[in-house]
Amino acid sequence: MTSKTFADLGVAEPICRALAAEGYETPTPIQMQAIPSLLQGRDLLGLAQTGTGKTAAFALPILQKLAHDQTKRMPRGARALILAPTRELAIQIDESLRVYGRHLHLSHTVIFGGVSQVRQVKAMANGVDIVVATPGRLLDLMNQRHVKLADTKILVLDEADRMLDMGFVNDVKKIIATMPRERQSLLFSATMPKSIESLAAEILRQPVRVEVTPEVVTVDRIEQHVLFVDQKRKRELLSKLLENPDLARVIIFTRTKHCANRVSEQLDKNGVPSEAIHGNKSQGARQRALEQFRSGEARVLVATDIAARGIDVDGITHVINYELPNEPESYVHRIGRTARAGATGIALSFCDASERSYLKDIERLTRRQLKVVDTRPLIGDVASPAFAEPQGERRHQQQRPKQGQPRQGKPQAHGKRQGPSGGHGGAGHGEQRKNDGRPGEARKQGGNRPGSRARKRNAG
Ligand code: AMP
Repeated sequence: MTSKTFADLGVAEPICRALAAEGYETPTPIQMQAIPSLLQGRDLLGLAQTGTGKTAAFALPILQKLAHDQTKRMPRGARALILAPTRELAIQIDESLRVYGRHLHLSHTVIFGGVSQVRQVKAMANGVDIVVATPGRLLDLMNQRHVKLADTKILVLDEADRMLDMGFVNDVKKIIATMPRERQSLLFSATMPKSIESLAAEILRQPVRVEVTPEVVTVDRIEQHVLFVDQKRKRELLSKLLENPDLARVIIFTRTKHCANRVSEQLDKNGVPSEAIHGNKSQGARQRALEQFRSGEARVLVATDIAARGIDVDGITHVINYELPNEPESYVHRIGRTARAGATGIALSFCDASERSYLKDIERLTRRQLKVVDTRPLIGDVASPAFAEPQGERRHQQQRPKQGQPRQGKPQAHGKRQGPSGGHGGAGHGEQRKNDGRPGEARKQGGNRPGSRARKRNAG
C-alpha cells in the first residue's frame, strides 16, 4: 500500500512546506477523506474528535482556498468563520492557522469571552480573512456592530456537540442566519445525537460525510495502571514517581480545585516545576499555565476535569490520576490527553480505599482491568489494612520488580518503553508496542503541537 502525501491530496506547495517543517509526513485518515472534497467546495459532516487531526483537515483547505481567491476583505468582516465551543479550543485553532499558513499572507484573529473586547474589536476593524470565535462573544460583538458576516462564505462548526451541550445552539443559529446562503459549511462533532443531525440538516447542503472513530484505538494505545495507595501516602508516591525523568510531560488530575492547588504547591516545594489550572483561576492565569506547560517550562500540569477539557498538548508522556474521577467517562477523557494522534501513552491511577467503587465503574466502562503496579518498592511495605483485600484480590497480576531491578533508590536510566514507575514496579516493562503505521507516529513520540517548534525558535 502506498501512502498518500499532502501534495497528492491537492494541498499547495507553501502549505506542504509548513507541514513538513512541523514534521507531518502523511495525512491522517480524516485529512485523507476530507481535504479533496473540501478543496472542491463541498459541504462536510465530520464525525471526529480532537486527536484525529481534524483541525488540519478543515484548516488546510480553507487556507488554500482563501489564498487562491484574493477577494477583498470587508471592514469588520471575515471571509471564513470557525466557531468553537471554548476559548482554549478557539486559541488552539487560531494557532494552527498561524502555523499551517505561515507562508501565505492571510490574516486571522480569535474572539472569545472572559477578556476585554477592545483588542478583538480593533483586530476586526479592517476585516480579516479568518475569524475563529466562541459563539457568545461573537454574537455580542455582532450585536454591537463590530463584526458582520454578510460576506462570510465559509463556515466551520467545530465540536458541535459540545457547543450544543454548553447551550450555544441559539447563538449559533443567530450567527449563521446573518451569513450568506451561498457558502461552504462544515460541521464536526464527536457524537451524532438527534440534535446535531437536525442542526446539520439545517445548515449543510449535500454534505460529504466522513467518520473516524479513534476512541477505542486511543484508549487501547494507552498503558493503564492502578496503584493502590493510602490516601495519606499519595503525596509521597507522587514524589517518588516524579523522580523518574521518563515522566517528562505529565498531567495530574484531581477531583477538586482545592486538591489541585495542594498538589501543585507540594510539587513546587519539591522543586518540580508545575502549574495548576482550574475554574477559580482567571482566564489569563489559565492561559499562562497552559503556555508554560506547552513550552516545557512546567513539566507538570495539575488540572481538574472541567479545566482540562479541550486541552490538547502534544507529547504528554503520562497522565496521573491523583484522585479517581467519580464519573468513569471522565477517566477516558483524562487518559485521552496522552496518546494523541497516534502516540502511545501511560496512565497511572492512584486508588485509595474510598475510591474502589470508582475503579470498578471505570473497569466496567473500559471493559478492562487496570494492571496493578506494586507500590512497595516505591514507598515501602506499609500497606494500609484498607488494602489488604484489593491487593490480595489482584495479587496474581501484580507486577513485582524483575530480578536485577532495583527495589528502591534512584531511577535507572532506561528507554521509553519501560514501566511507568521507572523500573521500580516494572508495570508495562518490556511490553512492545508497535507503531500501527498511523501518520504522525514518529513525530508524536517526540511530541509537538503545531507551532511548538516555531515557538521554540522564536524564544531562542
Ligand atoms: P487535532 O485532532 O486537530 O486536534 O490534532 C491532533 C494533533 O495531531 C495535533 O497536535 C496536530 O499537531 C497533530 N497532527 C495533525 N495532523 C497530523 C499529521 N498529518 N501528521 C502528524 N501530526 C498531525
